[in-house]
Amino acid sequence: MENEVCSIRLKAGREKSLLRKHPWIFSGAVQEVMGIPGHGDTIRVLDSRGNFLAWAAWSPASQIRARIWSFDPGESVDGTFFRRRLEAAVRARTGLVSRVEAPGTRLVNAESDGLPGLIVDRYDGFLVISFLAAGAEAWRETIVESLSGLGPWDGIYERSEAEVRRKEGLQPRAGLLAGAEPPARIEIVENGLRFLVDVRKGHKTGFYLDQRENRAAMGRYVHPGGEVLNCFAYSGGFGLAALAAGAGRVVHLDSSAEALDLCRAASDMNGFSDKSEFEEADVFSRLRAYRAEERRFDLVILDPPKFADSKAHVERAARGYKDINLLAMGLAKPGGYVVTFSCSGLVDASLFQKIVAGAALDSGRRVRIVGRMTQAADHPVDLAFPEGDYLKGLVLAVD
Ligand code: SAH
Repeated sequence: MENEVCSIRLKAGREKSLLRKHPWIFSGAVQEVMGIPGHGDTIRVLDSRGNFLAWAAWSPASQIRARIWSFDPGESVDGTFFRRRLEAAVRARTGLVSRVEAPGTRLVNAESDGLPGLIVDRYDGFLVISFLAAGAEAWRETIVESLSGLGPWDGIYERSEAEVRRKEGLQPRAGLLAGAEPPARIEIVENGLRFLVDVRKGHKTGFYLDQRENRAAMGRYVHPGGEVLNCFAYSGGFGLAALAAGAGRVVHLDSSAEALDLCRAASDMNGFSDKSEFEEADVFSRLRAYRAEERRFDLVILDPPKFADSKAHVERAARGYKDINLLAMGLAKPGGYVVTFSCSGLVDASLFQKIVAGAALDSGRRVRIVGRMTQAADHPVDLAFPEGDYLKGLVLAVD
């Protein structure tokens, strides 16, 4: 097996990012492919002079032509390798997430856990896996077997449907991988609140675990008895956290009826039914309608989906962010807050702040940043992989 490994040679100078331990090789960096590596095969990466740089997974359909498994020439990418990396990732979470919240945890965060293209989330007794790159896909069975050994789990379910799979030349796929079928709704506890996760039909793997710490931190910006507008509510995360922190009323706004069903059920389970409103509507137009009605809120939360998933979309995304932020600022009561997020990796923190500053200027209000937010600790960012740092939030005080 070892002798059959194909090699690629990089163009002169294109080894630099690898020497900084960045885990991606773009198609334009490849000078020569020796042999015919298959989809997801492990390849040896050499610099222009033929010196070893790394072991990587080959992805012929993708602009990210290879993703690094290891920079260690002595490493062999096999079952033991995956068991070790998966064990390390799971072990690292014990210090990052409280025992109570462990049943809702991201166990493997892809590149930042040394496992490019692999996401593993735990919801109670179930694991939900996304294989998002050719390499992770090629080791699918090994990965499932290793994860089974880290249990006991009730079941392991696959949600490999993210758009990035298409760029890797992979078809979407979902279904049971091991153990029992998950129930229609799995219950998890976050910051003392009960939430429902639909791992089959929910977004991503079913829940936005990356916002856990921000939902907790947002409590200090809730006025007792205040009115909260939870835009892009999904399963209710921020709105329920606001009610737990003393808000008097929350409007959950989302364009998805299924999301609002989860949100409504979670509101009932936590005893907040009488303080909750649910609006199935488009945020862009609903915020305009509120403006026209002169409706005002003590706190507006903006947690939109990713607006930019390629460089070509950054400008359009910027317009979208500016639009909703401008509207939200206009809806804040004097002394109120807007908590605003972007999960578009391509819109970095400084660009996001500029966009929000533009919105503040146009709003005619005095707006100050009083807090900054990022992704939860179980979504670590390897410093060698800044692309992993996708979530940023600003807490804005609106005078
Ligand atoms: N804040 C949520 C996560 C939001 S995910 C949490 O804490 O869990 C983004 C949500 O935005 C999805 O539920 C999606 O249905 C909704 N959405 C996307 N575009 C929308 C639009 N234009 N108007 C209203 N909701 C939208």
